[in-house]
Amino acid sequence: TRPLLPPTIRPLDPHAVNRIAAGEVVERPASAVKELVENALDAGATRIDVAIREGGRALIRVEDDGCGIRAEELGLALARHATSKTDGADLLDIHSFGFRGEALASLAAVARIALTSRVAGAEAACIAAEGGRVGAVRPAALSRGTVIEVRDLFFATPARLKFLRGEQAEAQAVAEVIRRLAMAEPFVAFTLRDLTDGERLVIRLDAETPDLGDPREALRRRLRAVMGRGFSDGAVPLEAERDGHSLLGWAGLPAEARGAATAQNVFVNGRPVRDKLLLGALRAGYMDVLAAGRYPMAALYLECDPRLVDVNVHPAKAEVRFRDPDTVRGLVVGALRRALAGLRAAPSLAEEL
Ligand code: ADP
Ligand code: MG
Repeated sequence: TRPLLPPTIRPLDPHAVNRIAAGEVVERPASAVKELVENALDAGATRIDVAIREGGRALIRVEDDGCGIRAEELGLALARHATSKTDGADLLDIHSFGFRGEALASLAAVARIALTSRVAGAEAACIAAEGGRVGAVRPAALSRGTVIEVRDLFFATPARLKFLRGEQAEAQAVAEVIRRLAMAEPFVAFTLRDLTDGERLVIRLDAETPDLGDPREALRRRLRAVMGRGFSDGAVPLEAERDGHSLLGWAGLPAEARGAATAQNVFVNGRPVRDKLLLGALRAGYMDVLAAGRYPMAALYLECDPRLVDVNVHPAKAEVRFRDPDTVRGLVVGALRRALAGLRAAPSLAEEL
């Protein structure tokens, strides 16, 4: 039955807007953890402790020793599109993980959260929110930094709850997110604890000390701690530069390649990405030395002026768009081929390759 008159157009109510937006930013516990750990990194934390219960569904707690949030701004921190990281004038000149002011508002819309924070020289304060309703700021006890607790994720959006996988799969995804972020932050200590049955330490990465002799050394040690000796001891280092882009990385031996793309770690300006162009370049770099269906282990760190890459094309910022994709592709493929060509020359490996 067609309506005779058109239905009235009305703005969505703000709660609905927040829940819809939350669906894009926070897809599962691991995406909440990613946003919270990125916030801690943006706050200059040197240690970040994460705890989860029941795969993060029942509880996610992230504790950091960063700069904190002023008591009078705790409400703003939970408001949509409120951020301390940009004025929005130039969305290409982004030097932080965050810039959209969406994560905490999204979590506040779909979960029960408590945000406690302390700025140096001030008293600690706390604010709570539940399903989009934000409470008053209260005094709290905290020695430094910020603690955020997210309970009952998606209690306010039961449909989303149904899409979550089992507890263990979600817990694994959380650990994966922390490992990937930690791979680009060697000077930050990370822990992950699972509180589901008692307390289990899942990840413990101590902060690496800077090595003035070789700035890559700390990164290499962190990579070894995360990816294991099997990767880091055999991997071929690579370094290259082209037109304002610089690449640093380690390419795993072809013999260490996997049947799945689980150990391909690509970072753009310190941000872990799942970028088609970069992953394609990685594959192309190995084309001559790897059979189809095998995936190299690798860690590639691309640095460039933030204006050469748009990170605002994906809700979770997992994909990026380069101003000059051909340069980036050429840089990565070329560096990998050169590094791997050295291997091919080695007689002991010649047969295998
Ligand atoms: P964004 O990171 O895009 O700015 P968020 O919703 O993630 O948006 O956070 C909103 C604001 O709250 C941030 O801009 C920051 O000022 C503050 N904030 C959030 N988490 C922390 C933290 N762990 N330490 C210090 N400030 C924080
Ligand atoms: Mg953020």
